[in-house]
Amino acid sequence: MAGHSSLTQPTFQEGILRRQAARESAARTYARALPIVPVRARGMTIEGADGRRYLDCLSGAGTLALGHNHPVVLEAIRKVLDSGAPLHILDLATPVKDAFTTELFSTLPRGLAERARIQFCGPAGTDAVEAALKLVRAATGRDGMLAFTGAYHGMTAGALEVSGGARDVRVARLPYPQDYRCPFGLGGPRGAELSARWTESLLDDTKSGVPAPAGMIVEPVQGEGGVLPAPDAWLRRMRDITEARGIPLIADEVQTGVGRTGAFWAVEHSGVVPDVMVLSKAIGGSLPLAVVIYRDDLDVWPPGAHAGTFRGNQLAMAAGAATLAYVRENGLAERAATLGARMITQLRSLTGAHPCIGEVRGRGLMIGVELVESEEWGGSGGPGGSGESVGLGASAGAPGEAGAAGTVETSGASGAAGRLPAATRPRPPAPQLAAAVQRECLRRGLIVELGGRHSSVVRLLPPLTITDEQAAAVLDRLADALTTAARAHHG
Ligand code: PLP
Repeated sequence: MAGHSSLTQPTFQEGILRRQAARESAARTYARALPIVPVRARGMTIEGADGRRYLDCLSGAGTLALGHNHPVVLEAIRKVLDSGAPLHILDLATPVKDAFTTELFSTLPRGLAERARIQFCGPAGTDAVEAALKLVRAATGRDGMLAFTGAYHGMTAGALEVSGGARDVRVARLPYPQDYRCPFGLGGPRGAELSARWTESLLDDTKSGVPAPAGMIVEPVQGEGGVLPAPDAWLRRMRDITEARGIPLIADEVQTGVGRTGAFWAVEHSGVVPDVMVLSKAIGGSLPLAVVIYRDDLDVWPPGAHAGTFRGNQLAMAAGAATLAYVRENGLAERAATLGARMITQLRSLTGAHPCIGEVRGRGLMIGVELVESEEWGGSGGPGGSGESVGLGASAGAPGEAGAAGTVETSGASGAAGRLPAATRPRPPAPQLAAAVQRECLRRGLIVELGGRHSSVVRLLPPLTITDEQAAAVLDRLADALTTAARAHHG
């Protein structure tokens, strides 16, 4: 191939990276943390313009259920291209769309599948979130929304409002349960129980300041929030609470869907049947596609209430249908469950040798390793901390970290008044160490993502097709990167 040798010149790669840095927005993220120039990719492997190969545990931010350029995906795309079918046809009916919808509906949780309606949205996950919020507002005639601390639902205005970083009066923020940084300092089922009770009390207290909401939006596993799986019992409580009060429950499965967490849809772990599901990422088989699925009684939109030019991506529908069918036929959700559990166990076994690991958590092949500083969170403030002493007053501004303060009285529910015992207090997050681990991973040919409240959680989102050998290589490289980065961090 004529251009091949120039592709492998380091100067070729450096030139591209230099031009990117000079021309692109300061908002760029992945491109900043991962200074590589991918030119080829297959399965879990990416090859850079400099000829280096990487194991990709980012998978297009959790998009590539089958990895890069899977043969069934390529074949489905080629088939459409070769058929002469229109590539852009708005949202008119086509055999490709019909086949995609049939395949998608066959996977939906029972209870929703029989009464499901689908709206094709703009191409990104955030477009489907907007549609879901708009739909439940139209269906209920109400405006307010319930959402959770640490949530991430996208970057358009409505999606940002319900995400954790927002300060929006239309959204009531509820505590998302988590063990390591439990807002109540308890973790486990008792922490989850308190967050459920807080939700109930906000809704039932006529003076809570929270008007009857149009819906509740929840991620069954928070991804960008730091890989926090919702306990099944807690999610069922959210279902009971919303159902009893006529509040539509929206499950944002943009990242958790299509087998990622060890079930085809993450809500299946709990048996919860949501009223609305927001789907994107993997459903397009590596091309942009986003839909909102909802029960027929919510279908109150008049014609044209939700439109858009790019809602009929035929190639994405073909690639998506092939992906959904492949995951279903090859039991890849089950594979994600067993391999993910094994990888989590192996990562947990590293905590003895690596005190910088605060917690290893996840579900299926959505795995997070939270990195922490060695000193206790205290008056001097750790990285990402305010530097002020943290008590009840200060913690009000940082609900996800109230328990982390270690100064919150835990009388009552815990039965033991006083400071949390040091052993149960989480240590300060270590974002700089996490960034160093990400760089060391890249040097070892491993691409990982960072996430969490302080970007201190190393995230693994490998394709569901990852082999045992690749999983072992991922863990070896990560452990090695941890050793080097931690030594430099503390030395
Ligand atoms: N919802 C969840 C749970 C996500 O993880 C994301 C993206 O990471 C989105 C919505 C937004 O999707 P997009 O980036 O395609 O707009």
